[in-house]
Amino acid sequence: MKYCCFLFLAACVVSAAPSVTPAAEQRLRLFHTHTGERLDIVYRIGNTYIPEALDKLDHFLRDHRTGDVHRYDPRLFDLLSDLTKTVGRAGAEINVICGYRSPWSNQFLRDTTTGVAKNSLHMQAEAIDIRLPGTKTSVFRDAALALREGGVGYYPKSDFIHVDVGRIRRW
Ligand SMILES: [Zn+2]
Repeated sequence: MKYCCFLFLAACVVSAAPSVTPAAEQRLRLFHTHTGERLDIVYRIGNTYIPEALDKLDHFLRDHRTGDVHRYDPRLFDLLSDLTKTVGRAGAEINVICGYRSPWSNQFLRDTTTGVAKNSLHMQAEAIDIRLPGTKTSVFRDAALALREGGVGYYPKSDFIHVDVGRIRRW
């Protein structure tokens, strides 16, 4: 009988202990408009980035012209995740127009188009050009501006926004 009481007490103590909430998973779903590839990935659990997931994201965001891969600043992935939450569509599939840009590709774009910066943050793997199908791109831009996590560019003709984790600025 004494033993039973002890067990009962132990059970009470255990259930009264503060419950441990599982660390939140941060997930991204991406579609690359140039390579046609898709990625659905948990890249962070709680405060810990998952190295294998970062490798996959870096490969996914490689320079689609040259195949060069660069280590992305993972804060950019948090920014993408925050953006889908800000427009009320957490986990929605983001279309990627351009991720990492090698110096060769950046020069190629400068030679053939307009509005490409000489020291673009795409070359530091700190920038990405995106749109979110189903959300107006102007609304998506406003969400990015509201987050104040870096630079925001708006390209209405091509229907995408540029976001980066550099200084807060807009164009
Ligand atoms: Zn850009």
